Order: sequence, then structure tokens, then C-alpha cells
Amino acid sequence: MRSVINLSSLRLPIAPGKLYIALSDQDRDSDPMTVTETAADFDLAARPAPLVDPFNRAITYLRVSVTDRCDFRCVYCMSENMSFLPKADVLTLEELDRLCSAFVAKGVRKLRLTGGEPLVRRGIMTLFASLSRHLAAGTLDELTVTTNGSQLARYASELAGHGVRRINVSLDTLDPDKFRAITRWGELDKVLAGIAAAKAAGLAVKINAVALKGVNEDELVRLTEWAHGEGMDLTIIEVMPLGDIGEGRLDQYLPLSMVRARLAERFTLEDIDYRTGGPARYVRVAETGGRLGFITPLTHNFCESCNRVRITCTGTLFMCLGQEDAADLRTPLRASEGNELLYVAIDEAITRKPKGHDFVIDRRHKRPALARHMSVTGG
Ligand code: SAM
Repeated sequence: MRSVINLSSLRLPIAPGKLYIALSDQDRDSDPMTVTETAADFDLAARPAPLVDPFNRAITYLRVSVTDRCDFRCVYCMSENMSFLPKADVLTLEELDRLCSAFVAKGVRKLRLTGGEPLVRRGIMTLFASLSRHLAAGTLDELTVTTNGSQLARYASELAGHGVRRINVSLDTLDPDKFRAITRWGELDKVLAGIAAAKAAGLAVKINAVALKGVNEDELVRLTEWAHGEGMDLTIIEVMPLGDIGEGRLDQYLPLSMVRARLAERFTLEDIDYRTGGPARYVRVAETGGRLGFITPLTHNFCESCNRVRITCTGTLFMCLGQEDAADLRTPLRASEGNELLYVAIDEAITRKPKGHDFVIDRRHKRPALARHMSVTGG
């Protein structure tokens, strides 16, 4: 019998893909072991130091926007006439793999691919396939995706085959006309079919809904009952002032404190400790038995426990969703085949991770707090 081991803890010059015999006393009688990590994943000369920011927060969660393009134009996310990045500026799938793997080597345990719409990027399943080796090696706990669901019917079983266990699907309404109005281009039926395919493939689905004043605020009870009835968690998100969307944020903004108060008139909400590694705070809805999350970047920011950084599809690292400061990782990535320059650039950037964001939506702030859209940084 052969056993596959995680070699991260060893301090030996090991070549990937070779068969090794254990030499220590305790291993003398054991079976040969196969090296499962590649050289790029496992740089023995300089196993890179884990990422800890100036506020002593370990950075263990990376969100990667694999494309800025999307097949929807959600009114709170994009303007109708978006201009997208030239393809030459966008990292190849191989480069994205190398970048993600460098972060895994530096201690990232959870990887979320997002966008834009990640599932519209051509060949995206090859990236899931290659990143899944980190799950197999035990160096990554979770590989996941945030999607609008439009392509899920096509990809759900492949995602499951690549080790994805849970996915987030963004869905703000169950009314087909409203859905079309919010997404401008989307079809509700396709998304519902995608969700059904994901469940059939064994994926746990969490629904993310952005609370929009005058649009879906009267539907949040129904969305909760529907999601929980389908065995899915629901997370409600406060709209954030990201990017020029061609209409006022103030018109869209609905504080989740109000949403929660209204839901509490209909449901019994019991605070629970459940965490997914993200910013949502969860309650259990006694009447449905399901979990309901709230992401409240404005009414109650959650920065003190932030463990995340984000990379755009051009290799720009944002240390905070709500701040402009960023680091270019594409240059060090392309400068050499080894990862040394990349690690230096990542370490330097993490020393600049701010304590938190300061989003504000009020009448004095008519412009977006940040110029870039959510589709650039990845939601
Ligand atoms: N296309 C994918 C999707 O729809 O889930 C992934 C990218 S999308 C930018 C990720 C999430 O960000 C979605 O749930 C979307 O509703 C949310 N989002 C986009 N713009 C937002 C904003 N200004 N405030 C709050 N959430 C936003």
C-alpha cells in the first residue's frame, strides 16, 4: 500500500512527482510515499512565512476576481455601459493558478473565485481542476465560488468533481420581472435551474441577496422562507458605495438594522455562533429552522476580524474592499519563474493592510466612496 503525505512539514530537498522511501526509524517499515505537491507549491529553500497583518490578523482567505466581465448588469453593481479591461491586461489561467498557489503556500486556507461572473471566463474549469490539488494535499480547506448562477446548470457537477463543496449564488428576488429589472440582462428561470443543478450535484448552496430600498425590501420574508424551504442558507447584504452606477446609492440603500427589525416582526431570530470564515453574522430562524446571515459593512462594520485580501484579474492585490490602496503582483509574477519576488511583494503589501474601511452613504456623499466597481475587486 502507498500512502500520500503532506510534505510541508518536512525540511528535505524533495522533487515533485517522485517516489520516496521513508528513512526515519519510525518509518523504516512503512510504505513508499508519493510526492503530491509541485515545485512551485513547495519551495523548500524558503518556505514562505505566513501572512500576518500589522493588527495581528492572520490572512487565511483569498478572494480572486478571475474576470471583470459579467453576463448581467445588476443596477447596484455596474452601469449599463461598462468598459471592460483589455484581454492582454488580464492574467492567464496559469498565472492565476500560480498566484493563488503562492498565497496557499503562505498560509491561505480558503480560496473563493469570483468576478465579474467567474463562470463566464473561458476555460475556468481548468483553474478549478488545478487548484483542487491543494485540497487533495491538505494545504487548502476550501475552494469555492460566488456566482450569479446563470452558468451553473452547465458547470455544477464539474465544480463538485473539483472538490467544491459549497457555493454562493447571488439572487435578489424571485419575481421574474423584478429579476430582469435588477440584473438588466438576466433570466430568473436559468438561475433557478442552475441552483437545482447545484443541489443535485451535492453542492451546498447559500443565497446572497442585496437589500435594495423599494425594490426587494418587501420580499425578504418570502426569500427567507423559500431559501430555507429549499435547504439553503440566506445572507442579506447591505448595498456598498462601490463604483459609479449612474444612479444614486441613497435611493438603493436600506440599512440592515431596519431589515432585521422587520424580519423580527415575522420571525423569531436566534443569534448563533455559526461562521463560514466570511463577514456574515448568523441567526437561526425558529419558524423555518434555517440560517439567516447579515453582512453589514455600513451599519456595523466587521473589520476587526478581517482575515481576507482580494486580487483582481489583472493581479492587483487589494488589502481592503473599502480602501484604494493596492499592490501590483502581476509585475513580480511575470518578472521571474520563481516566487521569491512575488512573496516579497505580498509581504510588503500585507504590512499596509488597513485596520478597516470607512464606507459612508449619506446626503453629503453623492459620489461613490470608491471609484472601482464591485465587479473589479470581486464581491
Ligand atoms: N457575478 C457573481 C455574482 O453575481 O455573485 C460574482 C461577483 S458579484 C460582484 C458578487 C456579489 O457582490 C454579488 O452578491 C452582488 O450582489 C454583490 N454586489 C455587487 N455590487 C454590490 C454593492 N455595491 N453592494 C453590495 N453588494 C454588491
